[in-house]
Amino acid sequence: MTKLLPTSTAGSLPKPSWLAEPEKLWSPWKLEGEELMAGKRDALQLALAEQERAGIDIVSDGEQTRQHFVTTFIEHLNGVDFQKRETVRIRDRYDASVPTVVGAVSREKPVFVEDAKFLRQQTKGRIKWALPGPMTMIDTLFDAHYRSREKLAWEFATILNQEARELEAAGVDIIQFDEPAFNVFFDEVNDWGIATLERAIEGLKCETAVHICYGYGIKANTDWKKTLGSEWRQYEATFPKLQASSIDLISLECHNSHVPMELLELVRGKKVMVGAIDVATDTIETPEEVAATLRKALQFVDADKLCPCTNCGMAPLSRRVARGKLQALSAGADIIRRELAA
Ligand SMILES: [Zn+2]
Repeated sequence: MTKLLPTSTAGSLPKPSWLAEPEKLWSPWKLEGEELMAGKRDALQLALAEQERAGIDIVSDGEQTRQHFVTTFIEHLNGVDFQKRETVRIRDRYDASVPTVVGAVSREKPVFVEDAKFLRQQTKGRIKWALPGPMTMIDTLFDAHYRSREKLAWEFATILNQEARELEAAGVDIIQFDEPAFNVFFDEVNDWGIATLERAIEGLKCETAVHICYGYGIKANTDWKKTLGSEWRQYEATFPKLQASSIDLISLECHNSHVPMELLELVRGKKVMVGAIDVATDTIETPEEVAATLRKALQFVDADKLCPCTNCGMAPLSRRVARGKLQALSAGADIIRRELAA
């Protein structure tokens, strides 16, 4: 029998201080060349060990080989000039200097496939690999070539599908697409965002997931959250179409958020990765707090479809805090497993 409530994380974990400056998002590397390559692999093994020791069931690479969840992927593509930068508004929230799309985009060679093969060699457990979603990718670029968000998203979807097929062949069990942009551009999500995501997963036999959150605990995000009022109903706009899509799992922010839990009813039938760990605070949840969030979610998610998870990535946290949160997630899930068995 498969284990009920398999635990997982949204993806990223803190990097060791010898690899990148700690407690900082998108922190630059401290090593170079061969040393950097070896360091990333060592860090991946550490991140895996932390997850396994904490009893996390579906493990990841902790995103130890990438600096940024979107940019690192784009850096490997043709058609984007990283020297030519323009300031754009990211997710309608904050300004950032971003690279420019100067020609047709394409993927010359695999981006993460070797890393995924390495992770596969290190564990017998189920592994999940995160990629940026098409809509979130276009939102972190200035497009001087296609001059159409939709057109560029379709191009990226094709590229992501190539990468995803190779990740699947490398033994990845779940491929996850990070789409925080799904919480912002509702009309576009429904017009073509979910369609491009379906293009990205076309032909895959492994499970597929979409992660839709309210972002890392950085100031631009926490300030934005303050403007959202007492009930966050953003998910309501996109859930009906997601429910009808062929995506298997939906990863959501729940704990300490103002998302009304009953919105999960709108994706009934899908597996839901319920965020039961707040990544925007250093306070480590108690197992009972995790259990309380999962208990609430169980009113709207069938027990065999619930995967306890973190709200988002834990990259900016200290390793001590992240470790504590992983343990709390495991212990909280255990409480609910015992209740379900009783
Ligand atoms: Zn996230």
